[in-house]
Amino acid sequence: MENTLCSLKTIQDIRARHGFAFTKSLGQNFLINPQIPRQIAEGAGIDADTGVIEVGPGIGCLTFELAQRAKKVVAVELDRSLLPVLGETLAAFDNVSVVNADVLKLDLGELIEREFAGMRVVVCANLPYYITTPVIMKFLEEGLSVDSLTVMVQREVAERFLAPAGQKEYGAISVAVQYYSAPRLLLRVGRGNFHPAPKVDSAVIRMDILQDRGAKVANEAFFLSVVRAAFGQRRKTLQNALANGLAQIGKQDVVKALTEMGLDADIRGERLSLSEFAALSDLLIQYLH
Ligand code: SAM
Repeated sequence: MENTLCSLKTIQDIRARHGFAFTKSLGQNFLINPQIPRQIAEGAGIDADTGVIEVGPGIGCLTFELAQRAKKVVAVELDRSLLPVLGETLAAFDNVSVVNADVLKLDLGELIEREFAGMRVVVCANLPYYITTPVIMKFLEEGLSVDSLTVMVQREVAERFLAPAGQKEYGAISVAVQYYSAPRLLLRVGRGNFHPAPKVDSAVIRMDILQDRGAKVANEAFFLSVVRAAFGQRRKTLQNALANGLAQIGKQDVVKALTEMGLDADIRGERLSLSEFAALSDLLIQYLH
């Protein structure tokens, strides 16, 4: 079946017939190049046994490609005015359902259990950019039975997810994403592929969830709070950033742990790799007892 949904002409037709109006605050930039959703769906590794959660189907341009490849697609869309549109554009598929909800408020564990029993599940989406990080962290942190996330995000955000230690884009989100998953770049997408065109370029990344995580830590919540605190005050040395950002941790504790790890006491957080953050948080948590 040919996908005719990713075009300016279709969007204009839908606006005229359904009276649909774009809501800028919902990050509504729709794809108008049919090659992009095809490449996203292919890169997501979807087959006839896969269940797909899509966030923000819009008028269904990516959904169409997902539905052609997957066993089942559940698309979560916040904008109620898109429901009749999706009813029309996806009418040919009996394996798609649309849930009208805010993805950030949804019980995803319950949705997966209800909709995808016995299926391998992946997430695939052209995300609304105003909530990119919270949506991704929700999928990563909730320990859901999801194999991978393949998402279009702002290019700068993709660079942060992929950055290794020491690079200027490296930060708390890089460590967190690389702790939960193995991220890789699939595709760069210029702003001209969307309507309306956003002010930024985009990229598609695929994050394969690591069942054993990217590093072993004694306490996941404490590890993540160490990482957040380390980057909370970027210009500070790690000992100052952690002493300021973590209750119960003093500078001496950090210096002691860094010395034990053979690292310079004046090191900055952006120099530490994921495994060094894991080792540091395991040492610091011992000092708390
Ligand atoms: N998938 C379509 C495409 O690629 O053309 C549209 C992508 S558009 C960047 C983002 C979509 O997310 C919009 O349809 C918007 O209404 C929807 N959206 C925004 N906030 C949302 C939320 N909190 N929960 C679910 N969907 C949301």
